Amino acid sequence: DQLISQIAAGEVVERPASALKEILENSLDAGSTDIAVALQSGGIKQIKVSDNGNGIARDELNLALTRHATSKIASLEDLECVASLGFRGEALASIAAISRTQITSYHADEKHAWRVASEGSFLTDIEPAALDVGTIVDIQDLYFNTPARRKFLKTENTEFGHCEEAFRRVALSRPDVSLLLQHNGRAIMRLATGSAEKRFEDILGKDFAAEAFYLDESAAGLRLWGMAAKPTFSRHARDTQYVYVNGRFVRDKLISHAIRQAYQDVLHHDRHPAFVLFLELDPALVDVNVHPSKTEVRFRDGQAVHRFIFHALHKSLAAPVG
Ligand code: ADP
Ligand code: MG
Repeated sequence: DQLISQIAAGEVVERPASALKEILENSLDAGSTDIAVALQSGGIKQIKVSDNGNGIARDELNLALTRHATSKIASLEDLECVASLGFRGEALASIAAISRTQITSYHADEKHAWRVASEGSFLTDIEPAALDVGTIVDIQDLYFNTPARRKFLKTENTEFGHCEEAFRRVALSRPDVSLLLQHNGRAIMRLATGSAEKRFEDILGKDFAAEAFYLDESAAGLRLWGMAAKPTFSRHARDTQYVYVNGRFVRDKLISHAIRQAYQDVLHHDRHPAFVLFLELDPALVDVNVHPSKTEVRFRDGQAVHRFIFHALHKSLAAPVG
């Protein structure tokens, strides 16, 4: 049922930033090396993402938008279940169900680009379009058909802040991709490709780069690398705490705890630590899909991960900064 699928999508696409995250991940999945994000009114009015990835062939275009329109959601009781599953091949369809979405894409197998548009659940025919490379996903009027959901949105500025944070999380982990963020026609962040350190500095500022040290520790199939600052770095109003597991941004209690303990043990307090840390391990030892929209993870051996992170960070924090 259409109404129910709209409500479900509203639950899953919590706010414009949730949609932006999914769209950005799709661009990265498509092998893009250059991505431009243009937002209007905090993403509520428009989220437009242009990339130079592999694109979508004509026959796949419709599917990309309609996958969600299955019989999966049979009743209101299922909604909670849907929300907790988050996106599994249904992000675009969920977003399309509650917005005016247009996708234009060029795929090497086609003579020219194609475009498909949807308004809620109404799809247009696929039409030829002009685009030399990649994909443009243009989402307008998010929640236009779910007014109850729209009421939960905060101010334009707050929603933009969330979008900016989603953009930052992706950008920190992909210094090999150039990125542009625009809001209401103004360029907010322009990021050229380069080293990880350069990207951290571009996003987190010179203060962070100057005070943080580089670390890279490995043991028993686990690797922790990135930059961490001692808590003198407290001028930032915003928390600078980013953790990635196998390239995905996560917010994980176990990891946070290990980090906090290392700081506490060395510095005898854990106020305002600032860090960007990447944990890498055998993908078979971690489940990152526990809750995609809530960025939780589950480790096969949580204790080993905790111990490793604590020791790796402890060692780096305790060493004299050179
Ligand atoms: P998922 O990413 O889980 O497969 P999505 O709903 O996010 O599901 O996307 C549906 C499909 O649309 C993707 O599998 C991909 O084939 C295609 N797609 C979406 N965005 C892009 C893009 N920017 N470039 C190329 N293909 C894309
Ligand atoms: Mg996706």
